Amino acid sequence: MPGTLTFDDLKSRVADGSIDTVLVCFVDIQGRLTGKRFHGVNFVETSFEETHCCNYLLATDLEMATPDGYASTSWEMGYGDYVMKPDLSTIRPVPWLDGTAMVLCDVLDHHTHQPVPHSPRAILKKQIARLEALGFEAKMATELEFFLFEKSLDDIRKSDFRDMQPISGYNEDYNIFQTTKEEDVMRPIRNHLFAAGLPIENTKGEAEAGQAELNIRYAPALDCADHHSIAKHAIKEIAWQNGRAATFLPKWHKDRVGSSSHVHQSLWKNDDAAFFDKSAKHGMSEVMSHYMAGLIKYAPDYTYFLAPYVNSYKRFSKGTFAPTKTVWSVDNRTAGFRLCGENTKGVRVECRIGGADLNPYLTQAVMIAAGIKGIEEKMELAPATTGDVYEDAKAADIPQTLRAATETLRGSQFLREALGDDVVHHYTRAAEWEQEEFDRAVTDWEIKRGFERA
Ligand code: ADP
Repeated sequence: MPGTLTFDDLKSRVADGSIDTVLVCFVDIQGRLTGKRFHGVNFVETSFEETHCCNYLLATDLEMATPDGYASTSWEMGYGDYVMKPDLSTIRPVPWLDGTAMVLCDVLDHHTHQPVPHSPRAILKKQIARLEALGFEAKMATELEFFLFEKSLDDIRKSDFRDMQPISGYNEDYNIFQTTKEEDVMRPIRNHLFAAGLPIENTKGEAEAGQAELNIRYAPALDCADHHSIAKHAIKEIAWQNGRAATFLPKWHKDRVGSSSHVHQSLWKNDDAAFFDKSAKHGMSEVMSHYMAGLIKYAPDYTYFLAPYVNSYKRFSKGTFAPTKTVWSVDNRTAGFRLCGENTKGVRVECRIGGADLNPYLTQAVMIAAGIKGIEEKMELAPATTGDVYEDAKAADIPQTLRAATETLRGSQFLREALGDDVVHHYTRAAEWEQEEFDRAVTDWEIKRGFERA
């Protein structure tokens, strides 16, 4: 059970008054918790069966706009309902809010009660099922990097996002003194999430002023994605409770390091590490080499899911630990894919391309799909690269702009087969809309550059 409370536990807590509120949430295409706050009594008496929401919620942008061009929902179709079906195995307390518990939902079609194909949780579940049919289970860990700021999100927004001061004055990579100064925010993040049933490993300072990282122990893919979404939400909420701001924007300042979300992946068969072969080089099994070959081959196809906004691509630049090359290496942080845990049962591949803004369900789904393709076709893995991969002219790049990533997504036969044409169409439209909105914007940079001198 991925949650920590059974439905009966929840009923008892509602009856004794220790829980009065249940957050009933699903994860939208941006990876945000979305839903309603139920009175505990109503939830345990009736709404645990299902509740409803407007179907524009899986076709909106960060601003809650209603773009045209989606096949699944539109003004013409009248913006009907989806069913939010609570997954009762995910009930957990929300220890940073008084008297509150949470449950995650699957999103179902209102008429057929079938999963909505473009719902992130459904997309991941489908790829997990395909992997299971091959006899494997994927275990994943997604690192969460973010920046903390001195002021709250509300203050920063009111000052129009100007003069933002990170919580520290210097690069705090692994720095214990500076991170002590942030314990008013970081300690409750660790402890509350742990009490909510997330296997928290640690937090640490990251390689820029104000930058932090949260690590959660690896888990089956769906649990990992649930953990990531809940943790990201909690980090923002707990920072807000403490009068601070947390942001997962990949690049908040042109001269500052960006925030990533590296994804560690391994396959298991009956609880044995299917990536490990102690007699093979690096301890890498054949299955792992095929999986990695698929991951690398299809990285350009799925880049959009690792970098879904215009800002995501600002993170990719030489010498910043934000790799863009479709090559792998052993314990070398400049390649897109890094083999970790060499010659141990923990041997795994880490994808280092994704930004802190990725949706963990979509990201894991497309990478599992690429790995499956590698395994099915027994793809051969090219030799590892060494040295500074940024300087390796032969290494292929992933798309460098949202526009380019949208085109590879649109044209990806591999993703159309793995996810379905309807799903690829849906996310291609989301990508196009993001670019269209940016193209309509007049940026500060343009004004400063051209106002007087153009
Ligand atoms: P680092 O020192 O680079 O931070 P860690 O040993 O802390 O590396 O591991 C990074 C992440 O990898 C952790 O979140 C951990 O849970 C995860 N991890 C460890 N073993 C595996 C595995 N076999 N499969 C997937 N993830 C794993």
